[in-house]
Amino acid sequence: MPKKPLLEFTDKGIYCAAGKFYIDPWKPVDDAVITHAHADHAYWGNKHYLAHHHSREVLLYRLGEIQLQTVEYGEKVMKNGVEISLFPAGHVIGSAQIRVEYRGEVWVVSGDYKVEDDGISTPFEPVRCNHFISECTFGMPVYQWKPQVEIFNDMNNWWRSNAEHNLATVVVGYSLGKAQRILQNLDLSIGTVYTHGVIENTNEALRRNGIILNPTSRITPDTPKEEVRKGIIIAPPSSVGTPWMRKFSPYSFGYCSGWMAIRGAKRRRAADRGFVLSDHADWDGLVSAIDATGCDSVYLTHGYTATFTRYLNGIGFDAHEVHTLYGDDEGVGSVPEEEPEVHAVSHPALSKGEGSKKDNKGTSKVLSFGEDLGEAGGHLS
Ligand SMILES: [Zn+2]
Ligand SMILES: [Zn+2]
Repeated sequence: MPKKPLLEFTDKGIYCAAGKFYIDPWKPVDDAVITHAHADHAYWGNKHYLAHHHSREVLLYRLGEIQLQTVEYGEKVMKNGVEISLFPAGHVIGSAQIRVEYRGEVWVVSGDYKVEDDGISTPFEPVRCNHFISECTFGMPVYQWKPQVEIFNDMNNWWRSNAEHNLATVVVGYSLGKAQRILQNLDLSIGTVYTHGVIENTNEALRRNGIILNPTSRITPDTPKEEVRKGIIIAPPSSVGTPWMRKFSPYSFGYCSGWMAIRGAKRRRAADRGFVLSDHADWDGLVSAIDATGCDSVYLTHGYTATFTRYLNGIGFDAHEVHTLYGDDEGVGSVPEEEPEVHAVSHPALSKGEGSKKDNKGTSKVLSFGEDLGEAGGHLS
């Protein structure tokens, strides 16, 4: 009988049978370890939650009264003899990779992550492991991010020009992550930063958690429109095209998402400006992050899993596609209608380390719910 893998993919989420806990379960369980507070990773209904300190107030705000234990990065928690520790994922404030160790075997669940330091989330830290469970939201070679300083220079220039032309400026980004990243990188000498209620509620939760954010002004029915016109409004994707947004007319509207890298995405959002700003790793970021783990095998949970699995197998990794319910937090309905072209790419900078020889069959395998990962080579021999 093959040894049961330490982590397995079940119909409720990623499960550790030895430790009797789940990671980011999408159905209610007794014991949940949470990578970050986005809705597709932190579901309501679990009996007990474990997450990073900086996720505390946002989780309580989003999920109500829950039984929640929070820890610092690197702090060790034991569950039934299994050691759990959290490491920075750089995705949003409080986001963590979950490291699980048992009898000398180490698995890491990345959750969502990015490798660029955004100046507000604790920067991503590669963690050595035997098995790495990774996202690949932008696992296509067309996704290559520019340094954020260039994006924010563009954004500040756009805002300055709008203010000079008496146009309101509305910038749209996800309420947890993108909104704070934008806020911290705006040039506040241009004007005031106004926020939609959904964004401000998240900002307030983070401030209760001790996070220092730049000053913001919540938009209420009493906020004078002429004042708002000189400032910039941070709004969530759900506000696009609503009467709430239209009342700021005339305005220029910018959308921040990794999907803006794809031709036509801006037009589909009806945005005046598309800012290619993502809280996920780009193609190079994914490949370098996976390589830095030194892992024996990698499991791809969400994104362009088929393409990316094929690519990784082709360059010598033992990669597997797995099925999960993790979704897209780069903007509602923003998955491109047509998939971008796959270009043949090589990674001269990347060479697999010595001694990490792979049993490469050049194929990917889709694991159905509950299938024993051990059968797919997901255990150490
Ligand atoms: Zn996320
Ligand atoms: Zn996600």
